Amino acid sequence: MPEHVVIIGSGPAGWAAAIYASRANLSPLVFEGAETEENRIAGTLPLGQLNLTTEVENYPGFPAGHLHQFLRSALPKDRLDTYLEPLHEHEHAVTGPELMNLMRQQATNFGTKIVTDDVVDVDLSRRPFVLRTLGGETVETHTIIVATGARANYLGLPSEERFKNRGVSACAVCDGALPRFRNKPLVVVGGGDSAVEEATYLTKYASQVHMLMRRDVFRASKIMQDRATSNPKINIHYFRELDEVLGDDKAGVTGIRIRNNQDNSTEELPASGLFLAIGHTPNTAFLKGQVELNDKGYIKFTTLMRTYTSVEGVFAAGDVADDYYRQAITSAGTGCMAALDAERYLAAKGL
Ligand code: NDP
Repeated sequence: MPEHVVIIGSGPAGWAAAIYASRANLSPLVFEGAETEENRIAGTLPLGQLNLTTEVENYPGFPAGHLHQFLRSALPKDRLDTYLEPLHEHEHAVTGPELMNLMRQQATNFGTKIVTDDVVDVDLSRRPFVLRTLGGETVETHTIIVATGARANYLGLPSEERFKNRGVSACAVCDGALPRFRNKPLVVVGGGDSAVEEATYLTKYASQVHMLMRRDVFRASKIMQDRATSNPKINIHYFRELDEVLGDDKAGVTGIRIRNNQDNSTEELPASGLFLAIGHTPNTAFLKGQVELNDKGYIKFTTLMRTYTSVEGVFAAGDVADDYYRQAITSAGTGCMAALDAERYLAAKGL
């Protein structure tokens, strides 16, 4: 028997879709991703980008508090032990891994089936659709919700990898308010709207923000450029590329070495944080061109205020179809919409 709903992805969009679809008695099957070294390096392990962050202070419903008791009562012991750091006994905002484990558990409580594997191939030309996993399984399904998200681009330097979560981040809004960044010089790499937005946001906390741009031309819109150039706390370095992130195991990031790409000279700057804002890559390779994408590679919604894609019965939710908002709450919102769209599609087809 084909599945009614298969959800691919396990970030907020995937779990919100699973909670709604399971409560609609559709018994959804979630492919949460494989726990492979390749996925770890790419930042595409189960539970998505939020699982890679620290505290989540802007997800409605989770003000800072003593969450350990709640987490212990809501989550099974094996997941607490395996997937969460020793629970903080002090007051704190929910962390990304905590939030994602709670969402996963909520979906499980209503009968969601979960497979810890990647979908590597789809055939959308057949009905029911056919999916193939990394482990070699084949699954048939009447509808698919693609919620595979996007991954932040990094430069690929070993020193950058070493200090991820200890000063290196690709999300100022997620991490900028952490104590380690307060009143310290910080660095943002990139010259697009995201870079300006991140740099501007970080000026609330930093003593100074250095922006590194590889050219002397912004990709950001004029209004955003003006915001960067007129902010006295933002120091723009044109024609500069990051050579190495400096630091040690105890303090994390303590500085950077940058290179002038015009004359190859280098200099070191003290900094306690490095934020990459050089774009995101949506996780759509497994679709192999069978669903229409926009010019940046994100899945295209074909109807306003609906999660429909170019293939009837295939819906998209979260960052895989969003290069603009990219927030946990907006992803969860579109996940809910996709489940309702799938439910109505199945009802209309009598499936
Ligand atoms: P963009 O692709 O617009 O910009 C990426 C920036 O990173 C460019 O300056 C690019 O430089 C630089 N870059 C890319 N690769 C490297 C590299 N290897 N080394 C150094 N620099 C690099 O991405 P954004 O995330 O900024 O924006 C994505 C979309 O989201 C855009 O459409 C943007 O308008 C939108 N957005 C809108 C916002 C708003 O309006 N408030 C806020 C945030 C995003 P180069 O130009 O040299 O290629």
